[in-house]
Amino acid sequence: MSTWCERCGGSLAEGDHAACEAARRFEPPRFCPECRRRMKVQVLPAGWSASCVGHGSRRSPA
Ligand SMILES: [Zn+2]
Ligand SMILES: [Zn+2]
Repeated sequence: MSTWCERCGGSLAEGDHAACEAARRFEPPRFCPECRRRMKVQVLPAGWSASCVGHGSRRSPA
């Protein structure tokens, strides 16, 4: 379950992240939603991959 906003790193329980969600359709995530660590993001020819030291890497939906 996500605790932190992937884009701004804020708590999803607080504030409005609608703008973040909208932006996330075009941008890779910046923060791990589970631990809030800044992820290492790589932009790929077809999307992106983001990796957290604690939670592994994810890729953009195909
Ligand atoms: Zn946010
Ligand atoms: Zn993490």
